[in-house]
Amino acid sequence: MGAWEQRYHPLREEWVIVAAHRQNRPWIGDTVRAESEALPSYLPDCTFCPGNTRVSGKVNERYAQTFVFDNDAPCVGLDAPMPAPPAHGIFRNGPATGLARVVCYSPRHDTTLAELSVAEIARLVEVWQAQYRDLARREGINHVLMFENKGSVVGVSNPHPHGQIYATNFVFKHIETEARAGARHKEATGRVLFRDVLDGEIEDGRRVLFENANAIAFVPYFARYAYEVYVAPKRVIPAVDALSPTEVQDFSEALSAVLVRFDNLWQRPFPYVMALHQAPTDGGDYGAFHFHVEFHPPLRKPDLLKYLAGPEIGGGNFLSDTSPEEKAAELRALPAIHYRKR
Ligand SMILES: [Zn+2]
Ligand SMILES: [Zn+2]
Repeated sequence: MGAWEQRYHPLREEWVIVAAHRQNRPWIGDTVRAESEALPSYLPDCTFCPGNTRVSGKVNERYAQTFVFDNDAPCVGLDAPMPAPPAHGIFRNGPATGLARVVCYSPRHDTTLAELSVAEIARLVEVWQAQYRDLARREGINHVLMFENKGSVVGVSNPHPHGQIYATNFVFKHIETEARAGARHKEATGRVLFRDVLDGEIEDGRRVLFENANAIAFVPYFARYAYEVYVAPKRVIPAVDALSPTEVQDFSEALSAVLVRFDNLWQRPFPYVMALHQAPTDGGDYGAFHFHVEFHPPLRKPDLLKYLAGPEIGGGNFLSDTSPEEKAAELRALPAIHYRKR
């Protein structure tokens, strides 16, 4: 029988119900079809391929590695109405200002982050660093969220490998919660909360997927999704820009190790939401914030979506049907070479 217990998520300050004994119960739910892998390396009407014209009429550079541009349909923008129209009574609002950018990982339409070499991933990490430095220092930018949605199951319409950046005047909720939990832990113990989580994972060892001198990847003890993985530098730094060149290498190696195993799991591109969790840039003291990347995969089995329902949407806490130890063992047992390169 798998784990059947509540586990505390110290970063989110909430309980996760682990009910792995239920994972073989009869399941009636939506199935998700595998995505076709037969893509061309260049697509004339792809808005992200080199040299193509976007919706805005702007033309993409003929880039050879990575390419960053301002999102043509941003959710936050410098052109947002200023000030916002007045709200009444209890209601509050504000201008939706900020910057939204797209980061193309490769000129090739038919590749994914998982298939890039460690050196290519390291170049992307350097692009994240440069973007962070550019955006974080700007007046009115209080947080920089970098993320990737991968797969149509999480709403991606264009498979061209890319991520996004939202630099906003507000701090995203998960970051706000993690920063608060970290500050409280620091005050109570003098230690960094995320670093204590890392020490706990290293000591237990069962959920660690990959480790080198400066980086580590693991399925957290309190995982909410099947195959949820965190990747982090071992040194406590608030954001990606503080990684040294050696740490960029080690961190990229850890990212690659996770991404390759994800794809090898079902021998097909593995969908996920990947988010870089970085300290707010609102001028506060975030010495207790430890930069990390979180992967939230929506599938629990090759064709089965994890539904967010009563407990998650209705109540706000996750019910996990899988045991983090078993999922980590499954991922760890997979080959370290991508199936399309074997
Ligand atoms: Zn493309
Ligand atoms: Zn986090």
